[in-house]
Amino acid sequence: MVDFDIIVVGAGPAGSVASYLLAKKGHTVLTIERGKRPGSKNMFGGRLYAWSLEKVFPNFWEEAPIEREVTREVLGLLYGDDGIEISLNGKPKAKSFTILRAKFDQWLAEKAEDAGAEIVSGVKVESPLIEDGKVKGVIVEGEEKIESSIVVAADGALSFMAEKAGLRAKLSGEDFAVGAKEVIELSKDVIEDRFRLEEDEGAAQLYIGDITEGVVGGGFLYTNKDTISLGVVMRIGSLS
Ligand SMILES: Cc1cc2nc3c(=O)[nH]c(=O)nc-3n(C[C@H](O)[C@H](O)[C@H](O)COP(=O)(O)OP(=O)(O)OC[C@H]3O[C@@H](n4cnc5c(N)ncnc54)[C@H](O)[C@@H]3O)c2cc1C
Repeated sequence: MVDFDIIVVGAGPAGSVASYLLAKKGHTVLTIERGKRPGSKNMFGGRLYAWSLEKVFPNFWEEAPIEREVTREVLGLLYGDDGIEISLNGKPKAKSFTILRAKFDQWLAEKAEDAGAEIVSGVKVESPLIEDGKVKGVIVEGEEKIESSIVVAADGALSFMAEKAGLRAKLSGEDFAVGAKEVIELSKDVIEDRFRLEEDEGAAQLYIGDITEGVVGGGFLYTNKDTISLGVVMRIGSLS
């Protein structure tokens, strides 16, 4: 007798949507998130394309905590103190929104909970529970074993669960990039004035060139309701 039909490791977008769909089908689902709450541990620039999530939650933007709908897109090539910008204005066919994952992931996790999934936060899964060559659940901090028929590894793009289950090879430094992001407060009026936006409209700006001083990578800037998300990402292999 297993403890749950399905254990989902991670309550990021993938984990919460998987938990929601599985719980809705009547399975018993335990979702384990190592962060204090869903959304407290993630790395994300700030723009969500709607096409995928819309299949699960049609018109989700009407109730989800989105920031702004992207209507202004800028691609910038910087050299020295100068640069060239290409900008596209207007609502593109592919809808996208700026979001803050701390709020958004929590909303998604609540959807999963409402569908019947049990979400436990602040607990790290140490490894899959493997017996007789099969994954039979997970081992959490403190060596506690929790059994399930299926384990969903939704612990992110680098999934250490997949690595420990032997489903992918170890990653090397070359596979990683490092990113830094700051969310800076700016009033709604200043954002709309500086980025030439109407109410609720958002800008997504991406930059390459001298911004990373020769290192492979780029910068991003997304406008939220009353903050901007500003960041830079660089390949570790290129840094060395
Ligand atoms: C710098 C950067 C900028 C990005 N910008 C964008 C963007 O603007 N738009 C976009 O669409 N995508 C962006 N991405 C990609 C995006 O962040 C990922 O595609 C997305 O987060 C993947 O969702 P996920 O649910 O699979 O994993 P994650 O969001 O990584 O969620 C995994 C969850 O699992 C939890 N977890 C991990 N290990 C364990 C464990 N052992 N036990 C319990 N819980 C665990 C984590 O705490 C986390 O909550 C960006 C990525 C980076 C690195």
